[in-house]
Amino acid sequence: MPPIQSVCVYCGSRAGADPAHRTAAVRFGTLLAQSGRRLVYGGGSIGLMTAVADAVLAAGGEVIGVIPGFLERLEVGHKGLTELHLVDSMHQRKLRMADLADAFVALPGGLGTLDELLEVITWRQLRLHDKPIFVVNQGAYWQPLLHLLDAVIGGGFADRDIMRLVTFVPSVEDVLTALETAPAAGAAAQTRLR
Ligand code: AMP
Repeated sequence: MPPIQSVCVYCGSRAGADPAHRTAAVRFGTLLAQSGRRLVYGGGSIGLMTAVADAVLAAGGEVIGVIPGFLERLEVGHKGLTELHLVDSMHQRKLRMADLADAFVALPGGLGTLDELLEVITWRQLRLHDKPIFVVNQGAYWQPLLHLLDAVIGGGFADRDIMRLVTFVPSVEDVLTALETAPAAGAAAQTRLR
């Protein structure tokens, strides 16, 4: 069994303006399933979220969705998942997704994606977990975030070593390569999420 068995993906509830983002999301889902890993995601059937989930399912993989009741109608809860966890709030959703995952991957997305990504980065900074975090800088979409992190460091609000908390990679293929060698998070760090 590989140490990283479940991968939580954060990505847009929209498909975005560049069709290459959807292509990359589908590719990621296919590669993830082929690598024998489970997908954990927000449970919706819209945007890049469903592109990844549908690709995992089409390639014979397992998908766990986690969605709050109030969002199930808005994001149209996906009906074909291996498991759909219904939770009470956005905070429960993020905690459950983080609990279920061994690693986190951000694809292009909007405010929700940014919120989810920054939260797991800050939780790692606080040593609440030690699970690897990857940002797929697909089409240089996340370049402004890299600049923002640089500005935070330059402004004296964080040390340069915050860049070790998260790994920016140019393509979805690079995530799969990195997952092969990524160590599992320490058991102690995993339990401190709650
Ligand atoms: P977005 O990137 O905004 O398209 O959203 C991606 C996912 O994040 C969707 O499942 C949204 O429901 C979710 N989301 C949106 N806003 C938030 C938020 N403030 N906190 C957590 N998740 C959110």
